[in-house]
Amino acid sequence: MKINMSQVKKELGSAQSFSFITSAPELGLDTEQNFLLESVAVEGQVVNKGMSFEVTGKIDAKLKQNCSRCLEDMITQLTVPFNEEYREIDGKECEKNSDLEINCFCGDEIDITELVRETLLLAEPIKPVCSEACRGLCPECGANLNINACSCNPVKTDPRLAVLEKLLSKD
Ligand SMILES: [Zn+2]
Ligand SMILES: [Zn+2]
Repeated sequence: MKINMSQVKKELGSAQSFSFITSAPELGLDTEQNFLLESVAVEGQVVNKGMSFEVTGKIDAKLKQNCSRCLEDMITQLTVPFNEEYREIDGKECEKNSDLEINCFCGDEIDITELVRETLLLAEPIKPVCSEACRGLCPECGANLNINACSCNPVKTDPRLAVLEKLLSKD
């Protein structure tokens, strides 16, 4: 995923847009985990700010995960923005600076593969839930409480609800 900088470098304030379609293997993301479904779309623009170049954009991806409560498969749709500054340095300095905090590039290209990879890794939800209302698994028998209530441990019913239940059962 390389942005061609030859035009945007020439003029302060000029901008160039870019868009890429990539995939988990191309990003070097763990394919065994294979949490990235289908393709990953990246789009944005680079702006010449004089001392540096600002790369902004967003990544669209789908992750296959398991709900942290009920463990069911679920799909998480991610849209992750990114915003990074890059500085141009000359070729000899390129390698020396590779572990500095600042992003740099030399020549006429900025490779954003690593940026996209890290942005996605950081954006992966750690405790995904299939729905805010997910009731999870019964800690006693492991039943998925979204599907059916189990009979263990007569749930500590809210006293207000108990009244309601009594009223309802009279019908
Ligand atoms: Zn769930
Ligand atoms: Zn149970």
